[in-house]
Amino acid sequence: MKKILYIVLDGLGGRPEASLDYKTTLEAAYTPYMDSLAKKGQLGLMDPISEGIAPESDAAVLSILGYDVDKYYTGRGPLEAHGSDIKVRDGDLAWRANFATVDEDTLKILDRRAGRNLTTEEAKALAEEVNSKVKLEGADFIFKATVGHRGVLVIRKKDGKLSANVENIDPGYKRHGPYSIAISNPPVEVQKCIPLDESLEAEESARLTNEFVMKAFEILKNSEINKRRREEGKKPANIILLRDAGDSLPKIPTLKELYGLSFGSIVEMPVERGIALLTGMKEVPIEDSTNYKLWADKVLEALKEFDGVYAHLKGPDVPGHDGLVDGKKDSIEKIDAEFFSNLLPYLDFSKVVVAVTADHSTPCSLKAHSEDPVPLMIVTSGHQWDGSEYFGESSCAKGKLGRIKGKDLLPLLVEIARK
Ligand code: ZN
Ligand code: ZN
Repeated sequence: MKKILYIVLDGLGGRPEASLDYKTTLEAAYTPYMDSLAKKGQLGLMDPISEGIAPESDAAVLSILGYDVDKYYTGRGPLEAHGSDIKVRDGDLAWRANFATVDEDTLKILDRRAGRNLTTEEAKALAEEVNSKVKLEGADFIFKATVGHRGVLVIRKKDGKLSANVENIDPGYKRHGPYSIAISNPPVEVQKCIPLDESLEAEESARLTNEFVMKAFEILKNSEINKRRREEGKKPANIILLRDAGDSLPKIPTLKELYGLSFGSIVEMPVERGIALLTGMKEVPIEDSTNYKLWADKVLEALKEFDGVYAHLKGPDVPGHDGLVDGKKDSIEKIDAEFFSNLLPYLDFSKVVVAVTADHSTPCSLKAHSEDPVPLMIVTSGHQWDGSEYFGESSCAKGKLGRIKGKDLLPLLVEIARK
């Protein structure tokens, strides 16, 4: 059978932008290598979870790897923790965390990401201070800074379990079952964690979370690192916003169990790493994730070792969130010029099935993930060209693959690879 190469460009999908003559960033970007794939493959659109849902990356990735999220998803926190090498037991409370900036008198949020210039080193030093100085009543915790302003918190009760059925303290997101939905015009104050049911476990979760947030705030606002940031004219990272609690890891069958195939994964962010590890994919580490030629080299190497390779490049999502049309277009062009250019000449399409798609759309005009379906193309020899001339949302809308659901893509790739 053929090998499978599954490439996901985070947040690739977009909407027509006025400043680009009503093209999307992908359509406006100069992408000769991706277009060369479109000129021999089949295109389509994919709803990462299902029509009308604007997913977060974690649920989206689980879904596009073939898992039914309604059945398996347990919240983002446990996946982030798992991908950050923190063990999550059933009954632990795991949160996705963000360093942010608040007004120290009113707790009004001034910047959701502490200016987006908190270095990983600064964040790690702040986390160390929080871990050594904060003590919780009746529980232990691990707080870990991951990448930039991002982090993860796991609280473990000394006796008994905790429940994730609690509201976010991050006002930007509201709980909806195990999911969080980004809300427009959110309240500006840090919210108190409140239990969403009357169980003792949820009550304890809320109490411990509030205790952690306020004790961490006291430590952070007086930290030397934040004093220095204020002196440098930067925003202090003086609060930890928490969202997306979960109290267990998803219990999913591995890809090996499902398809009998071995997979390697090349991913960048903890949450994607957490999912990749859970699915049983072997991690192919990437020393410098800003070097796209290295990504291409790693993919080619991994294709020799595994039946399938999953590569998840973060690039276009961040400028999408920041509303930077040119930034997102540049990021797509860079991936084409440095990743695909170094990859495509070395692929033998009689031996590999290549899929290129996204985990969700992040339109610049929205500065958030949207429910728009994502562009998709599948290329391999013997899989007849559908007449597409370029890789973009409008060509994908006319492509032969039609409109599929995220969880059906991997089974489809396996089927094509077996032909
Ligand atoms: Zn994403
Ligand atoms: Zn995003």
